[in-house]
Amino acid sequence: MGPPGAGKGTQADVLAERLGVPAISTGDIFRAQVADGTALGQQAKGYLDAGEYVPDSVTNAMIRERLCADDTRAGFLLDGYPRTLDQVAVLDEFLAGQQRFVDGVVVLEVHADELVARLLHRAAQAHRSDDTEPVIRRRLTVYAEQTQPLIEVYASRGLVTTIDGNGETHEVSQRVLTMAVSLQQQA
Ligand code: AMP
Repeated sequence: MGPPGAGKGTQADVLAERLGVPAISTGDIFRAQVADGTALGQQAKGYLDAGEYVPDSVTNAMIRERLCADDTRAGFLLDGYPRTLDQVAVLDEFLAGQQRFVDGVVVLEVHADELVARLLHRAAQAHRSDDTEPVIRRRLTVYAEQTQPLIEVYASRGLVTTIDGNGETHEVSQRVLTMAVSLQQQA
């Protein structure tokens, strides 16, 4: 977990490779669906472009289906899900039904000025439709209002590890991998 620009996608890929599990990014799935012009993509596009969350009913149905795929049997890493309290409840119920549970939650913390700088930099490079300045501002607000409270929910379950997400990508990756090794040693 972490705000837009925290490096979730990049670090999720690094960590998932280390753990040998798939990294599942709801944002990537939505963008692929939009690019392919599927019914789901058409449903999601307006929300992505505005920096708003896709409705829980749509997102939950999509992730449920993804988590039924065979490649998740040995575990998986979620990037960008859950983002609302409703999504937490749905994920809990879904996993409980399969005698599975969330092992841990990694929170990437990045200073606000670095976040905005990174997002504007990505806007100049990647041309994501939601990396314009007003939409970036909206995404940060939506995160603070709807997703940040989830950290407390998972912290109260003793699941949260916080990582300093400031600095260069490889420095943050090093911290993430060190954390993964120490969690595996404890397990
Ligand atoms: P991301 O790539 O994770 O920053 O996500 C990009 C956009 O996809 C978000 O701004 C939302 O519009 C949508 N999205 C991704 N994950 C979720 C989620 N868990 N719930 C609702 N909308 C999501």
